[in-house]
Amino acid sequence: MFPRSFDYVAPASIAEAVSALQGGGFAKVMSGGMSLLPLMKLRLLSPDLVVDIGKVPGLDSISDDPTHVTIGALVRHRTTAASNLVPAALRTAASWTGDVQVRNRGTTCGAVAHGDLAADQPAAVLALGGTMVAQGPGGTREIAAADFFVDVLTTALAPDEILTHIKVPKAAGGSAYDKLGRRGGHTDYAVAGAAAWVARSNGSIGDCRIALTGVGPKPTLAQAAAQALIGTDGSESAIAAAADKAAEGVTVLEDLYGSVEYKTHLAKVFTRRALTKAVAAAS
Ligand SMILES: Cc1cc2nc3c(=O)[nH]c(=O)nc-3n(C[C@H](O)[C@H](O)[C@H](O)COP(=O)(O)OP(=O)(O)OC[C@H]3O[C@@H](n4cnc5c(N)ncnc54)[C@H](O)[C@@H]3O)c2cc1C
Repeated sequence: MFPRSFDYVAPASIAEAVSALQGGGFAKVMSGGMSLLPLMKLRLLSPDLVVDIGKVPGLDSISDDPTHVTIGALVRHRTTAASNLVPAALRTAASWTGDVQVRNRGTTCGAVAHGDLAADQPAAVLALGGTMVAQGPGGTREIAAADFFVDVLTTALAPDEILTHIKVPKAAGGSAYDKLGRRGGHTDYAVAGAAAWVARSNGSIGDCRIALTGVGPKPTLAQAAAQALIGTDGSESAIAAAADKAAEGVTVLEDLYGSVEYKTHLAKVFTRRALTKAVAAAS
């Protein structure tokens, strides 16, 4: 399949890219093109203009300061997967994103901006309490991950905003991600999966965030499960009891890969597995 014809620009700065997005017509940002181009070839998306930010300098690195790790818009999945600065849940999610070609081209920010309901890295960023930094015509704004994912393939980004960085807190604790891929194993989109972050305080679980993917219309916090774990000793039985609440208050959708019952079951299984690893890492 070929896409409908479209115009293409490759600006040299984010300011130029934002201005190109405002030029009228239907414009889309392109980072790695790993989701945008297939959608265009299938004609599920037919932009008049593609704004390729791949030539904008200064966006392809991961850096840190005392409080945050910052991932630039052009950092590829394979770079995120290999970085010791990046918390384990996000590193694992990046290393399990697609195949080697996809990991060499696709970007962590692109995956988050795309917001696929079965994607790996959005759930990890949500569990880690990440913040999206977006630049638009009105300047720069920060959007908490909990407010960023709105609905199926829909985020809080405006059409003329560009996600320039993701900031992940360097909070103490442990994190982990686990999933069932659509073809079994770990690569490919998730049938269902869970990312967890856990911090200890005076021997108990002091704080916890769990995010599910592949279960509902968007990456979703499993708040009942997280609340059930906080204050416990993080033992196997406490984790099992918390994981049993993984789908409580969560919209679970049937899709081609599983019924509501199956997805609910997988949400519990992968929450338990992710929590077990995160608690061990936090100890
Ligand atoms: C064969 C294959 C297998 C895959 N398997 C998996 C998998 O197992 N798990 C998984 O999670 N994903 C998978 N993916 C998707 C892959 O991770 C994509 O790379 C990712 O979803 C998008 O990143 P990208 O940089 O390629 O973005 P693009 O394709 O360039 O863009 C995707 C969307 O996000 C928008 N966008 C991109 N960057 C920005 C930005 N900086 N600011 C604002 N908007 C932006 C674009 O306008 C577009 O709407 C797979 C893709 C393929 C082709």
